[in-house]
Amino acid sequence: MTIDAHTHLFPPAQAQAREAIAGRDAGFAEIYGDPAATIADAPALLAALREDGIEAAVALGFAFASERDVAEQNEYLLAAACEAPHAIIPFVTVNPSLDGWEREAARSLARGARGFGELRPGTQGWEPLGPEGRRLAALAGEAGAALLWHTSEPVGHRYPGKHGGVSPAELVEAATAAPEVTMVGAHLGAGASFYLSMPEVRRATPNLLFDTAAGGLLYDSGTIARLVEAAGADRVLFGSDFPLRRPGPELERTLAGLDAATADAVAGENARKRLC
Ligand SMILES: [Zn+2]
Repeated sequence: MTIDAHTHLFPPAQAQAREAIAGRDAGFAEIYGDPAATIADAPALLAALREDGIEAAVALGFAFASERDVAEQNEYLLAAACEAPHAIIPFVTVNPSLDGWEREAARSLARGARGFGELRPGTQGWEPLGPEGRRLAALAGEAGAALLWHTSEPVGHRYPGKHGGVSPAELVEAATAAPEVTMVGAHLGAGASFYLSMPEVRRATPNLLFDTAAGGLLYDSGTIARLVEAAGADRVLFGSDFPLRRPGPELERTLAGLDAATADAVAGENARKRLC
């Protein structure tokens, strides 16, 4: 099975209200304020999956500031997954800096959310290792759901949305603090995978995974093989960051040079076992 473990969806109403949302949400403005930044809805994702021969995708939310935007996007993500249950795996958004955020989180889990993401605690102003982060991990753990974190490389070129996620150290510490919870470090984990070469770190983070989303924009072509080497083939998930990147070419690029068993695991078997 092939699964794109990292795609983004917005309801058409939020795409149309892009300017207004950008006016009240700095995090959204940084990534989607530019009208040239593509925003995709469910039909666009399903068409891309069909055309590129990919069976399913994890559809992620955005780290909105306001409760109304969070709720509106989650409503759409969950409805899209209801309409296409075999193709869309819904990860809802959440803002733990808002009062009563747990209500929206619990409501979404009860309606079939398989996880929370793409998490950007820095953008929203909450501590991934603080009470909110621990509470979110506990909620996810109780429901058998996963957390997908935007990870911010501490070095390299700047781009919209680079910062505002978790550092490699925070990712490892969050996974260590809740070892039973499946956690995904997006964008190859910003280097965190190297630290799995420390036996105690690997032992302390049995459910820490990494997706390859937008890897082609950040790292050279040998990096996926190095990630597999450092983390282990069972901890790597193919992701595209659609609509920023097209799933088909990203899948081809990600699997290039991997042996058949590793390619199967990365292309979808890991995601099927750990996220579905
Ligand atoms: Zn993303």
